[in-house]
Amino acid sequence: MQNLLDLDLPGLVAFFESLGEKPFRARQVMHWLHQYGADDFGQMTDLAKSLRARLPEVAEIRPPLLHQEQVSDDGTRKWLLEVGPLNRVETVFIPEAERGTLCVSTQVGCALECAFCSTGRQGFNRNLSVAEIIGQLWWANKAMGRDPKGDRVISNVVLMGMGEPLLNYDNTVTAVSLMLDDHAYGLSKRRVTISTSGIVPAMDRLRERMPVALAVSLHAPNDALRDQLVPINRKYPLKELMPACQRYVQDGPRDFITFEYVMLDGINDRPEHAEQLLHLTRDVNCKFNLIPFNPFPNAGFRRSPSETVRRFASQLMGGGKIATTRKTRGDDIDAACGQLAGQVEDKSRRVASRIEKFMGMA
Ligand code: SAH
Ligand code: SF4
Repeated sequence: MQNLLDLDLPGLVAFFESLGEKPFRARQVMHWLHQYGADDFGQMTDLAKSLRARLPEVAEIRPPLLHQEQVSDDGTRKWLLEVGPLNRVETVFIPEAERGTLCVSTQVGCALECAFCSTGRQGFNRNLSVAEIIGQLWWANKAMGRDPKGDRVISNVVLMGMGEPLLNYDNTVTAVSLMLDDHAYGLSKRRVTISTSGIVPAMDRLRERMPVALAVSLHAPNDALRDQLVPINRKYPLKELMPACQRYVQDGPRDFITFEYVMLDGINDRPEHAEQLLHLTRDVNCKFNLIPFNPFPNAGFRRSPSETVRRFASQLMGGGKIATTRKTRGDDIDAACGQLAGQVEDKSRRVASRIEKFMGMA
């Protein structure tokens, strides 16, 4: 049984060809699936009756199961999606005046164990399939619909939910190609952002294959500190990461990289850290996005005071960089950055070598 939500346009074309159907059927079905949110072949009224009758025998439309929806006081919404027994991932919609952003997960848990991240604490179970990644946008579009002008409420997607997108490279890229495809969601490359902790070889592959906006989770201005906070740094240290960022800027859809920097009280928020950051990024066209740390139980870190964050930002700006501070959204429903935990049946602790294995695959 082929789940049609697992296929992008070339995949759907190949599937319909295998049934002896013309390629344009792929585009028709894609419209139904992704623009109308169809979950039943019976709805696809412009398909020949014989095809409509045959499809359920060979194909299915299977999005992840919707387990729960929560709405925050500030309008942020969180959907908990079930992706198998004991495993749930989270998707968050963040409404703003000028745009509506959906924050999408790419893995059940995460193997990378960044010190300050709730998802990382949970361990890792598995990669999400294409259907499970695009299924988040599929559900959220159904829930949010269109605005009075007829435009979709979801105008931007950030792959910043649970998991490391570039360690689920193939499924992420296929899902992103659906996000960009005019026959599906038709989002512009600048409105789809992949956030990575810095998987250098995969950043290069992405740049060549599907350059969308890129955010890099920097969080520390030197290797000694970054090794502690973002352990993947031991494999891809700053002297490799910075040139990879420069290469991405050259070919990417935007002329800058966003560096995410979580502000941890007394850890990475001192004036000398800002100074080192300016030096480190002197040759990279970049903007900084400072993220006040979002706490979770037993996190072991404190959020930097807002005055510290303000001073840090102005020091970066004094050095000629743009620095914005991310507004905390949805924290009353644990939907803020780093708070997503879903439910993960951790396999990484049981199979300790798995982390190494996944890193080796990158
Ligand atoms: N794995 C990818 C994408 C998911 S994390 C990555 O690390 O980039 C999305 C962003 O939230 C990252 O910048 C991450 O470092 C940040 N983050 C993680 N935990 C956080 C926390 N507790 N408070 C604030 N931001 C956090
Ligand atoms: Fe994984 Fe990103 Fe969390 Fe690090 S910050 S543990 S890479 S999800």
